[in-house]
Amino acid sequence: MSGVAYEYMEHYIRGLIEEHEGILKELEDYGHNNLVPIIQKEVAKFLELMIQMKKPIKILELGTAIGYSAILMSLSSKGKSSITTIERDSKMVEIASSNIEKYGFKDKINILQGDCLDILEKLDDKYDLIFMDAGKGHYNQFLPHCIRLLNEDGIIIADNVLFRGMVASDELVERRKITIVKRMRKYLEMVSKDKNLVTSVIPMGDGIAVTRRRD
Ligand code: SAH
Ligand code: MG
Repeated sequence: MSGVAYEYMEHYIRGLIEEHEGILKELEDYGHNNLVPIIQKEVAKFLELMIQMKKPIKILELGTAIGYSAILMSLSSKGKSSITTIERDSKMVEIASSNIEKYGFKDKINILQGDCLDILEKLDDKYDLIFMDAGKGHYNQFLPHCIRLLNEDGIIIADNVLFRGMVASDELVERRKITIVKRMRKYLEMVSKDKNLVTSVIPMGDGIAVTRRRD
């Protein structure tokens, strides 16, 4: 069990979502066979919906891995979004670059190699959608940068915020994960308590939090 949603519920919801074909299916198979933590099926569907609603021109992603979610977002926008994605692991950068090249997304997706914190400090463009999916123990540090880089009407979608349920229950917390869990709780408190922000935490996948500036 994921520790976030009831298993039967997850199973049911996933059953409603049609299997991908082609590029996305190939990347999903690669991800699952190689234990790459790509976004879950229902989160992929949620991102697709958000992108169709929001029609972001510029997207920033933290955590490229093999390029699955970046390619999914590009396809969801029908190629209308330009995506910048950050990854620090050189092996992942290599795999993602080759996928992006192979499937023809070179003009749409740009990978920046390095640690998110170092790169975020140097960015100064504005983004319509920021997808946070790297370094669970550092979301609280990424947040001020993401807010600075967020367009007036932009949204931040953070993945894995409930981290197998551990964030919501001390009984589930594994010893080695205590620091990550505490920092993730801090992130959720920051986005929930800030009067200038409005956030919804959704127990879907591994937990997602959607944040925007309050009108
Ligand atoms: N978004 C991807 C999955 C990302 S998995 C998808 O759904 O397809 C998380 C990735 O973040 C891993 O590849 C890991 O190497 C990278 N990562 C973790 N911490 C990071 C950091 N501080 N800076 C940059 N990349 C980081
Ligand atoms: Mg994730």
